[in-house]
Amino acid sequence: MSETTTTFAPGRVEILGNHTDYNLGFVLSAAIHLGVTIEASRLSEEILEISSETNQRSISIELSNLRPLTEDAWANYPVGVIKVLLASGFRLSGMRLNISSDLPLGAGLSSSAALEVATALAAKALFDLEFEKMRLAQLCQKAENEFVGVQSGLLDQASSVFGKSHQLILLDFLNVTVETVSLPANASLLLLNSGVPHQLTGGEYNERRKQCMLAAKSLGIKSLRDATLAQLESVPLDEVTRRRAIHVVGESDRVLQGVQALRSNRLQAFGDLMFASHVSSQINFENSTSYLDVLVDLARKTPGVFGSRLTGGGFGGSTVSLIQAGYANEIVRTISLEYHKMTGANCSAILTEPSEGARILS
Ligand code: ADP
Ligand code: MG
Repeated sequence: MSETTTTFAPGRVEILGNHTDYNLGFVLSAAIHLGVTIEASRLSEEILEISSETNQRSISIELSNLRPLTEDAWANYPVGVIKVLLASGFRLSGMRLNISSDLPLGAGLSSSAALEVATALAAKALFDLEFEKMRLAQLCQKAENEFVGVQSGLLDQASSVFGKSHQLILLDFLNVTVETVSLPANASLLLLNSGVPHQLTGGEYNERRKQCMLAAKSLGIKSLRDATLAQLESVPLDEVTRRRAIHVVGESDRVLQGVQALRSNRLQAFGDLMFASHVSSQINFENSTSYLDVLVDLARKTPGVFGSRLTGGGFGGSTVSLIQAGYANEIVRTISLEYHKMTGANCSAILTEPSEGARILS
């Protein structure tokens, strides 16, 4: 056991496979170079003291009485993780967590999962807890589901945990397995934040999740993982439910096609799948916004862009584009200018490469 530790957990970008995680499908994602850092130390009192440099807030709560906070809801992510660890039988006592981050919040890059994963790693290092990496991701997901109340799938936490530099992560949520797929060195990832944080977090997300469950139930299957597009055409489903399901099944298919494209170095074919994914978000899943649509349309017209789509839950946040390495400055200049002209809003860019997953720094 150590008295102090510093941990880091990265944000993630979903590259293909939108809303497929809780439908037990496939996702291609990557950890990015930005993330949450936690400096942690053990305390002799049975309390949790948490402060964030990001929002300049701090809280203190007794370990014996961990409950969701309403005023400092930001702290529910780390408090929830500790609560879930205790409820799962892990033995730990008081600690202090000092959070800092270079990840934008609510931008669709999963600062929430980064915060959870960095917290779990800190507890692991301070109290010598033993759990496998996938279990760590699952415990963090449980905290977000049960303590924060967002019914998110495992994508965010698993990507933050399993990230690898220069590799995309292929997650299979039915078998709960992870593989890596190399991203060719001449390709980079460009993230453009629409400047509109995802709105209606929880509400819209949980509604989509319910619609997917309803579709699976109507088809008499456990999850949409077991559905095919042909089946969706032939079974009587209401119009909206059918479109939601078509998105999810199409996304999982596109992930598998995307893996083949990357393995044979066909970057444009991969990019076309990203554009197709965005169109499906627009018309089938209706989780895009006019701002994200403008960003993707501009990307489509800009030389050096292979493909572009919204990333993460949707309803705001960021787009991810696969671009030719070396073209980033020109692409960002062109798109930012046009975006401002067309929407009056400003987008901000992050150029990144697939990066290493969560780790104990000291
Ligand atoms: P995303 O995960 O896409 O960034 P979420 O709405 O799921 O968006 O999570 C963002 C929330 O996570 C913030 O509103 C805040 O409550 C919490 N959070 C993330 N990082 C930090 C941080 N560094 N300090 C305090 N709270 C944070
Ligand atoms: Mg989140």
